[in-house]
Amino acid sequence: MTNKYMYFVANWKMFGEPKSLNSLNRVIKFSKLRKTNKFKLIYCPPYTLLNLFSKKLKKTKISIGAQNCHENNNSSAFTGSINAQMLKSIGANYVILGHSENRVSGESDNLINNKIKSSLNNNLKIIFCIGETFIQKKKKSTIKILNDQIVNGLKGIKKFNNVILAYEPVWAIGSGLVPENNELEFNINYIKNIVKKKFKIKKPKVLYGGSVNPKNVLQLNKIDIIDGFLVGGASQNSKKFIDIIKKTFI
Ligand code: PEP
Repeated sequence: MTNKYMYFVANWKMFGEPKSLNSLNRVIKFSKLRKTNKFKLIYCPPYTLLNLFSKKLKKTKISIGAQNCHENNNSSAFTGSINAQMLKSIGANYVILGHSENRVSGESDNLINNKIKSSLNNNLKIIFCIGETFIQKKKKSTIKILNDQIVNGLKGIKKFNNVILAYEPVWAIGSGLVPENNELEFNINYIKNIVKKKFKIKKPKVLYGGSVNPKNVLQLNKIDIIDGFLVGGASQNSKKFIDIIKKTFI
């Protein structure tokens, strides 16, 4: 149970077709009934659905975001790519960058840094993902990994108010595993402290992501330094996603 302002980000990954939009009806109804401004809902569908989401959610308080973008600011010859300007033009307000599923296919801290800069230049808000792999955790190098990802990924960033961090241990994503509360609290505290110190930010926001579901969210909510959740699998089921939100506030 919390009284804080919380973010709930739905990452649909490479799932969804136009008919999947029907599942939003339940969430729209829920968000209208909840006359509270205690939380922000952000849907990040695949590129193919962004425009449809944008139209469907236009008259609601639910925001939309993309799951990635190209680092180039201007339209250019990059087959198969979408840049931040294009995302903004269809009504996206957020973009997830640095997700481990993209890091694993070759995205470096430097590339992610360029994507963050380009997205901020186009007035998108960033959900910047960081986290260690299982091997890195076993080698006790989590802190070094988090430090490097933060320092390199956010190098030269000025509009820090538009950056939200998401701590997503890679081994927790899609695995059904979540860190112990003391480990999670320690790591999120570390992230907040380093951002405060190196970037002079008073109140950095850090979400947790990795197998969040309606059952484990009660336990996760005992950590009051968490500013919200980035939810993959469970967000594709609107009932489960709503349950996660409800259980955060009861
Ligand atoms: C994610 O995609 O960022 C994620 C946390 O996925 P899941 O909730 O399925 O672990």
